[in-house]
Amino acid sequence: MVDQSFTITAFYKFLEISEEELVSIRSELQRMGYKFKLQGLTLVATEGVNGTVSSSAEGIAGFKQDLQQRFGEITFKDSYSDFRPFKRWLVKVRDEIVAIKDKSIFPDGDRNHLSPEQWHDVLSEEDVVLIDTRNICETDIGMFQGAIDPRLNSFGEFPQWVKDCGIPKDKKVLMYCTGGIRCEKALISMEREGYENVFQLKGGILDYLAQYPDGHWDGECFVFDGRVAVDNHLAPSQRYKFCPHCGDPGDLQSTCDVCETEMVICQQCAATPERQTCSKNCAEKYRRQATVAGD
Ligand SMILES: [Zn+2]
Ligand SMILES: [Zn+2]
Repeated sequence: MVDQSFTITAFYKFLEISEEELVSIRSELQRMGYKFKLQGLTLVATEGVNGTVSSSAEGIAGFKQDLQQRFGEITFKDSYSDFRPFKRWLVKVRDEIVAIKDKSIFPDGDRNHLSPEQWHDVLSEEDVVLIDTRNICETDIGMFQGAIDPRLNSFGEFPQWVKDCGIPKDKKVLMYCTGGIRCEKALISMEREGYENVFQLKGGILDYLAQYPDGHWDGECFVFDGRVAVDNHLAPSQRYKFCPHCGDPGDLQSTCDVCETEMVICQQCAATPERQTCSKNCAEKYRRQATVAGD
């Protein structure tokens, strides 16, 4: 059983908001944050709202009610933590609520969504192309079995990848991301390139794991807060920590070459001697020592 001291919920809603409304909606959301003692980050743009927030179970329940009163029906993806996963409550106005760097892509409702049950059945029974629309640091720690990893550094690279990917246009394509929001845009991006049979996982990996912890998923699922990742039971990762040097998830346990405290760094940074250290501070000390020693 996961300790449920903190409830985390992820949500998004595409809707048209005028430039003039942005500031007042931002203040409304800020007030909801204080009312329900929320922490986390919510983005507002002319295309909608997108957030991951945390509070007590009661706080999150109240927030969901107010949010749906304001914006209509919303799908929430819940998970839990035994520690506070965010430090602050922030509401920010952005150009897009998920950045594909093309404002002409506007998702319009639940088109081509597969429920976790439908998704599970298709993966069990059909020959499909499966695409992970997330970034490298996410796909490296967990993916659906047999998925194609486009090796994206950022989501903005996805449309170009579709142009180059060479997947036959008549293939049935399934795509997924953490909570579903990136696929809303990725799906339109594929349709513009002539793919006609594209589907996305409704509620993303988080909703799938809530129903199928031992299904077609391998590894852990990266999340955008202090938990780094969640395991197949949606419990905070016991394995990954944010690498102190590059900020990506790391799972190499070792001892700092400078101060000898225990630490966790990532595979990539482990290849650099000065990054065999517990912090940027110790990496700097390592560099100075190496200079003195004439290395
Ligand atoms: Zn690193
Ligand atoms: Zn150190």
